[in-house]
Amino acid sequence: MQNGYASVHLLLIGGGHASVALFERAVAWRKRGIDITMVSDHPHLYYSGMVPEHLGGVYGEDEVRIDLKGWCQHTGITWHRGRVVRMDPTARTATTAYGTTLPYDVAVVDVGASNPTPPEGSAQITGTKPMHQIARLEAWLRTLPERTSQQHVVIAGGGAAGTELALNIQARIRRTAPRTCTITVVEPADRLIPLFPEGSSQRVADLFARQGGRLYTGARVQHRPPDRVVLDNGTRLPCTQLVWATGSVGPPLWQCTPFSCTDQGFVKVIDSLQIPSAPRVFAAGDCAAVDGYADLPRIGVHAVKQGPVLAENVDHMLKHLRNGNPPERAYHSAGLRAFKPYPVAPLILSTGTEQGLWRAGPVWWMRPAALRMKHLVDLRWMNRYRLPHQSTWSPLSAAHARSAQHPA
Ligand SMILES: Cc1cc2nc3c(=O)[nH]c(=O)nc-3n(C[C@H](O)[C@H](O)[C@H](O)COP(=O)(O)OP(=O)(O)OC[C@H]3O[C@@H](n4cnc5c(N)ncnc54)[C@H](O)[C@@H]3O)c2cc1C
Repeated sequence: MQNGYASVHLLLIGGGHASVALFERAVAWRKRGIDITMVSDHPHLYYSGMVPEHLGGVYGEDEVRIDLKGWCQHTGITWHRGRVVRMDPTARTATTAYGTTLPYDVAVVDVGASNPTPPEGSAQITGTKPMHQIARLEAWLRTLPERTSQQHVVIAGGGAAGTELALNIQARIRRTAPRTCTITVVEPADRLIPLFPEGSSQRVADLFARQGGRLYTGARVQHRPPDRVVLDNGTRLPCTQLVWATGSVGPPLWQCTPFSCTDQGFVKVIDSLQIPSAPRVFAAGDCAAVDGYADLPRIGVHAVKQGPVLAENVDHMLKHLRNGNPPERAYHSAGLRAFKPYPVAPLILSTGTEQGLWRAGPVWWMRPAALRMKHLVDLRWMNRYRLPHQSTWSPLSAAHARSAQHPA
């Protein structure tokens, strides 16, 4: 039955923070005869809210990642490991880097953003997007106590992500290799976390400096020869591990796919999260720019909020196709839900101490209560994606206790 419900194929590309909400519908869709395939370049999704504290030693690896492959097996989705490099909306296919062609009737793309390309060079580097790259950094941090030569971590980018990583890695270094490892942040603006209120930047910069961190503002990393980085103001810094946290650009997939994108390379979607020229294709999370909200910060809070809208609209599209309707009619005027972001998205940064930095617009405070709130929110979200056999999760009190080992 061409395009009938029984033959509809749903392809999930990426499996990011927005599209994991679809796992909750997958069993029902499978029962109705929908074939579902997930293709992602890694079997786990790392939850960015908890990754900095994972590097700081508060959480173990399995506590901060969702087992995408396991969820596929659990819900009857076909799992395919691969990096999608292009889509053909006419043939309705997605192609992976290894040349596998995956067909779809409806596709959901949630592949996240990319880091801007780092400078050429051979100093060891870890990107932050996709997030699974941090597994290499974690492995390197584990070797720190045994290293006898001097080590130097440089974080390029002192925005919210770079700063949270820096503070947590600093806490780990202070605990495991205080004499043999230094940490430096390089930020192009004139202060750390430049989009946060000035008072909060100062507070965090003081904390970082008090614990021995070095901060270079008004500068960018320009070259990375072996064992050092060179800044655009000529400063040379020793560097044995460069962490690239310099913001977000659109993923390479969109460069090879004929969809309209913003100047930064994010695909344009309408508020039902559909691509206007290809309404069978939904895009969500950091890889998409929603019409009317194109300047929304690329943060997981928005991706997570898109999850239920995405699930409902994909369900609507699947039913729509079953009824033999052309996909072009399935816009929100015909029953699809519109995504509306939070007017102000609150963020809580962990600081590698028992304090958290809570910020919403111009309002901020830095207290232990903020970190407790963060642990509660993060663990509650992750618990939704715990598979039945995963019973070894940290209780909330354990996360608090481990953070409290690092007084401010
Ligand atoms: C250090 C750090 C800390 C952060 N902390 C916070 C925070 O506390 N709160 C917050 O709101 N935001 C935070 N963010 C931002 C947050 O990480 C992103 O906004 C969020 O991850 C976006 O989710 P997503 O759904 O777009 O996709 P992602 O979570 O990026 O997931 C995309 C998935 O797709 C896979 N993939 C990528 N490309 C392909 C491809 N071509 N083919 C197949 N699969 C692919 C990836 O492996 C990944 O599993 C942080 C970011 C960083 C770097």
